[in-house]
Parts: sequence; structure tokens; C-alpha cells
Amino acid sequence: MPSPALKPCPFCGEDEEVSSPEGRNYGLFIRSTNGTYGNSDERWEFFDVECVKCGCSLSIGAPSRDEAIAAWNRRAGEETK
Ligand SMILES: [Zn+2]
Repeated sequence: MPSPALKPCPFCGEDEEVSSPEGRNYGLFIRSTNGTYGNSDERWEFFDVECVKCGCSLSIGAPSRDEAIAAWNRRAGEETK
């Protein structure tokens, strides 16, 4: 099932999702950060959303890509369930 689309940036209106922010001056980017716990092989990964164009980011550390998207898409005044 495809992930839901990112809503436009609330600050600058940017709405194009990019797969990499390197060398760009536009785009919405879902950044994943990962690593391992101490010396174990157990991995952790979390997701944030950045607007490359205006430099804002939602550093929420969501445990999944879809949850990061849902958090980015949340807007005051809109009902969420
Ligand atoms: Zn923006």
C-alpha cells in the first residue's frame, strides 16, 4: 500500500517530494535515521520530515514513515481520528 502524500509545506507551500535533499534548494524530504543499540545487532530507525526549500523540519522522530507523514500532514483546525 503506498504511503499517503505529504501536504504542502505550511510555511512556503513547497509540495514536491524529493528522494534526496543533497544539492537541492527545493523539495520535501523524509529523512530516516538509523543505528544499532550499543553493541547489539538490534536496529532502531526513525523518521523526520524536512522542507529543503525554506529549511523548516518536523523533528518528531516517528517510528515509521507513515507516522512521520501523518504528523507532517496534521494541521490546526482539522479533525483527526
Ligand atoms: Zn517550506
